[in-house]
Amino acid sequence: MNAEILAVGTELLMGQIANTNAQYLSRRFAELGIDVYYHSVVGDNPRRLKDALIRALERSDIVITTGGLGPTKDDLTKETIAEALGLPLVVHQESLDYIKAFFSKLNRPMCENNVKQAYLPAGSKVVPNRNGTAPGCIVEQGGKVVIMLPGPPKEMIPMFDETVFPYFEGKTGHIIGSRLVKVFGMGESEVETRLMDLVEQQSNPTIAPYVGYGDISLRVTAKCRNRDEAEALIAPVVEKIRERLGACVYSDSGESMEEVVLKLLSEKGWTLSTAESCTGGMLASRLINIPGASRVFDRGFVTYSNAAKVQELGVSQKTLEAFGAVSRETAEEMATRLVERTKTNAGLAVTGIAGPDGGTPEKPVGLVYVAACLNGRTESLKLNLRGDRERIRTVSCLHALDLLRR
Ligand code: ATP
Ligand code: MG
Repeated sequence: MNAEILAVGTELLMGQIANTNAQYLSRRFAELGIDVYYHSVVGDNPRRLKDALIRALERSDIVITTGGLGPTKDDLTKETIAEALGLPLVVHQESLDYIKAFFSKLNRPMCENNVKQAYLPAGSKVVPNRNGTAPGCIVEQGGKVVIMLPGPPKEMIPMFDETVFPYFEGKTGHIIGSRLVKVFGMGESEVETRLMDLVEQQSNPTIAPYVGYGDISLRVTAKCRNRDEAEALIAPVVEKIRERLGACVYSDSGESMEEVVLKLLSEKGWTLSTAESCTGGMLASRLINIPGASRVFDRGFVTYSNAAKVQELGVSQKTLEAFGAVSRETAEEMATRLVERTKTNAGLAVTGIAGPDGGTPEKPVGLVYVAACLNGRTESLKLNLRGDRERIRTVSCLHALDLLRR
């Protein structure tokens, strides 16, 4: 079984938005063990959409479209495809009732053109939409399957996960199971050298490395009849990777560094605060992005100027004058004073030169100090990072968090 993803929308062709729907759907089809052979994109034009659909149906077993299910005039996907397949559109009462209730809950009048969203190709299976008005549908015809989903990812993704994924699960006779092992604190070539023979020997599961922003992800993927079988093949390989890379593996289930650290502190009932200079709140923001962070995260300071480091944290003027804002001494003092002020169990501090300007021969761009004060003990790390401002700040955050994990 193979699939084609047909994204509909002029804004995609004009470069106004990226086709993240195709990326998401491809990944999910891979998990189902369904090969995706083509991505295509077509504008909101019925003639070209019809051509694209006919071509897709000639070469693919499954065609899944996203976009163009809205109530406005330029949303023509359903009408065009139903016509191309020779199917009349019939009202789906349950969807119509749902749309009516959707508007009354929002206290907004329902427009006449919203009614058109409740019309679906005759004989199709409905894909309910909990987050919007347009239902999707699955049409089976002549051994082919056409699926229509709306464009907004917030609507499309849950619809795919809740209805379309289960529709296909088990139909291919096999599934693709995978786990993401995340590695930090070891270079790409070192990881490769340590895993070389493993990567070469493995055919099921396979190990595929991806180099990220400062960290490395290893996707371990198995093709099996069911999830349990996949897990039985994947688990020993993940164990071997752990043996080879040691503490540099920070997650074997795709978690982010901040998730891992928050979980660790939460298990111990410890609290955390941050004091940031060059990362400017990025560290706090990454932590707060994780649901449930409030159990651990207390507060964060952005102390960018020297004056702020003195006033907000109580770093001594003497330290700043003697060693400079970007120094091990300042980083450590930031972390120690922070914990004294906040009475948290752990405090993280970052100070550095993110560039592109501001470097000197003694203190070049990319020089960053991170420090952690954990239950009265302060530790720090000097980093010489490469890359642009964004990368230096991102990798600094990872190093700071990593201090709490070790
Ligand atoms: P609506 O009811 O919002 O009009 P729709 O099903 O008609 O939904 P479109 O009008 O094609 O969908 O797109 C609506 C929005 O959904 C776009 O402005 C864009 O933000 C998002 N979107 C559409 N297609 C994609 C895509 N392929 N990838 C990511 N986002 C998309
Ligand atoms: Mg629309």
